[in-house]
Amino acid sequence: MDVIVGKHAGFCFGVRRAVEQAYQCQASSTPCVTLGPLIHNPQEVERLNAAGIRAVSSPEEAKGVTLMIRSHGVAPEIYEETEKLGILVIDATCPHVAAIHRLVETSTRDHTALIIVGGWDHPEVRGIAGWAHGEVFIFSEPEEVKRALLPDTALVVAQTTLRREHFEEVLEEIRKKVPNLTVRNTICAATSQRQEEAEMLSAEADVMIVVGGRNSSNTNKLYETCLRHCPRSYLVETAEDVPIREIHKEDRVALTAGASTPQWLLDEVAGRIRRLA
Ligand code: SF4
Repeated sequence: MDVIVGKHAGFCFGVRRAVEQAYQCQASSTPCVTLGPLIHNPQEVERLNAAGIRAVSSPEEAKGVTLMIRSHGVAPEIYEETEKLGILVIDATCPHVAAIHRLVETSTRDHTALIIVGGWDHPEVRGIAGWAHGEVFIFSEPEEVKRALLPDTALVVAQTTLRREHFEEVLEEIRKKVPNLTVRNTICAATSQRQEEAEMLSAEADVMIVVGGRNSSNTNKLYETCLRHCPRSYLVETAEDVPIREIHKEDRVALTAGASTPQWLLDEVAGRIRRLA
């Protein structure tokens, strides 16, 4: 049995940096809490909890400890609130997301409308929306654009973990409605590389395994991509989830993992599959 693990599988730069910063902070003298789960991976969150790094839902709950802002970033109100409360902050906002915040803040000072292509309930999207000075529209599907009343001028950005093709589909509808459109494709290169690699691997594999949290947006998008090319694609959270009855000795098995999947989990899953050979 051939088992191939994608080179771009697992933690992206921003998530790795945030997780390392959290463990470093906890190892120092002040305990560290994170504003929301640091990453969308239940197993790594469990490890963080075991190390004493727990998630809180508001800055108020971080009095007396260090508050870590995760790679998704936050709206400016959160910084204002932490300052008012005198809370020590470690800002692990991914530099790529922070650049989107700066772009949105400066480009909408004249109250130009902002359109974000992404999920309205995703923390990264909510954070980006918070930096806009004007009206904000959030669309995840082309159909939503068709129903919307849009201004003549707008700036468009994308949730960093979006599939490029999906962004283009939604964008096509936006272009029909907004004559003065400034488009910034803010999809992260790490996401595109992982998606492209997953596409390539799933086109050649008999069985495609996507490792990651079921609550992770980019893991789910990765799984959807793989399923389009390989009908025997499976999303697994841990080595126990590996569908051993579905994998045969003659299969070519390929693995990929979402940006929030730690290396140790990917290794465990790959190890279990290799033992089937
Ligand atoms: S996916 Fe890209 S933008 Fe998002 S945290 Fe990772 S490196 Fe940063």
